[in-house]
Amino acid sequence: MNIILLGPPGAGKGTQAQMLVEERGMVQLSTGDMLRAAKTSGTEMGNMVAGVMARGELVTDEIVIGLIREQLQNGSSGGFIFDGFPRTLAQADALGGLLEEFGQTLDAVVELQVEDETLVARVVNRAKDAVAAGRAARADDTAEAMTTRLMEYYKKTSPLIGYYHAKGMLKTVDGLGTMEAVRADIANALQA
Ligand code: ADP
Repeated sequence: MNIILLGPPGAGKGTQAQMLVEERGMVQLSTGDMLRAAKTSGTEMGNMVAGVMARGELVTDEIVIGLIREQLQNGSSGGFIFDGFPRTLAQADALGGLLEEFGQTLDAVVELQVEDETLVARVVNRAKDAVAAGRAARADDTAEAMTTRLMEYYKKTSPLIGYYHAKGMLKTVDGLGTMEAVRADIANALQA
């Protein structure tokens, strides 16, 4: 089974993806993690996208589509979880093409719904927790970058909700509950 986790920054896509990995042996493909890894290892691409990411803007479709293509080549017997990808209609179209090319199908798109105030509070807390634990906070986990990240989400990513609804693939889950409650709702949505 291949699924997309869709939702605004801070909705809990990464947390839920991790749970699906542990429970179902799926492979998580997080373009955000891939881009941060490229930044940390100081690759040319990583250096190129660092500023864009810190501001909360989207990197180019070409870059993230390339990253996903590389990973799809490896295959996954448990299926893929797309986390933070696609984020634009062009990326959604490209993903459709790539899945076809690799003989795969998309089974469901799970939208995690959380309202803006909660998203900002979660992200600002995540930064505080990181600092308290002696880790570096994500450069884009600031109230200021969050304003841009949310705007990017509503302008460029939220149209995907209609896109996948029209394809009959959209499942909507309330992302406000505990991690466990959201996990159970996603499991139900995937069965339905
Ligand atoms: P979040 O969902 O919490 O915003 P991510 O880790 O998914 O965090 O993404 C962090 C940043 O990485 C984004 O703000 C953007 O700059 C970049 N990024 C990640 N995925 C994509 C994508 N599919 N298209 C464009 N930019 C992306």
